[in-house]
Amino acid sequence: MRPIRLLAGLLLAAAASMTGCAGNDAGSSDALTTGKWSIALHGGAGFVPYDIGPEKTAEYERSLSNALRAGAEVLDEGGTALDAVEVVVRILEDDPLYNAGRGAVFTADGGHELDASIMDGSTHACGAVTGVRTVRHPITLARRVMERSRHVFFAADGAEHFADSAGVERVETSFFDTERRRKVLEEVLAERAQEKEGGSTVGCVALDTYGNVAAATSTGGMTAKAPGRIGDSPIIGAGTYASNRSCAVSCTGVGEQYIRNTVARDIAALVEFEQMSAEEAATLVHTRYLDPRDGGAIVVSRTGEIALVFTTRSMLRGAADSSGRFDVAIWE
Ligand code: ASP
Repeated sequence: MRPIRLLAGLLLAAAASMTGCAGNDAGSSDALTTGKWSIALHGGAGFVPYDIGPEKTAEYERSLSNALRAGAEVLDEGGTALDAVEVVVRILEDDPLYNAGRGAVFTADGGHELDASIMDGSTHACGAVTGVRTVRHPITLARRVMERSRHVFFAADGAEHFADSAGVERVETSFFDTERRRKVLEEVLAERAQEKEGGSTVGCVALDTYGNVAAATSTGGMTAKAPGRIGDSPIIGAGTYASNRSCAVSCTGVGEQYIRNTVARDIAALVEFEQMSAEEAATLVHTRYLDPRDGGAIVVSRTGEIALVFTTRSMLRGAADSSGRFDVAIWE
């Protein structure tokens, strides 16, 4: 990386941590500044059938690669982990393949209620929104909550009102209607069964060249969820967590289980206090405390280690780092 880019990036990183009013700077002194970067994303843990065929497989892989490339470029050019995770999640929110933003699932009464959260590991600043119906990019609204309000978590009408004051794009709620998701709702309601493919929630975790980590998660929740139901994705410590002292985590799966088991925070605590690797910590939490097939998590540690752990058949995922790694995958 060129020195000018590095300097510009350092100034950006400093400015970014100063604007966050909800954090502290306890984490910034914990940054390991190695000049290396790492990034991982997920497009949901679930049960994508093995026989979706080469075209659909290629469509997923292309989509995951495009989002991963965009995040990798931010980091390679000296951008912050926080910018990288937001950029990636915004791209996935615009892609109807995923259950976030544009392709959000339907609630039991045929609506959409979107959840998102973001956390800056350098300051422990965080922002979250739940139950939003008209915000195109819930992840950006979560970031605005983090940076422009004195609160951490906004719900429903209050979140949308805040979106207007923060200049975040609103859309008609029908913007989130897709035929594919409507069909799944009808099937789930008819069979009273869970969606077969799984959620396709999206998330991203990153370590930037300044040693700061960040995490972001966005979802439409679970098909046919009761109106008002909130899953783990917008809950800091359950679906999302980031600290320079340990790692950044984004989870996907049965939200109630991830809330009960404070999964994201537990993974970070095992890395911080038990000196476990990200892989060991995420595996332990998934195998010892969660039920088989509950879901998965992506982790990037403060040293740049990437872990992609899941107990479902599939987890749409991708990982890249400054040593040249770049891969995407769907099944085990
Ligand atoms: N965790 C999300 C929720 O419970 C769903 C998912 O990740 O598939 O809302």
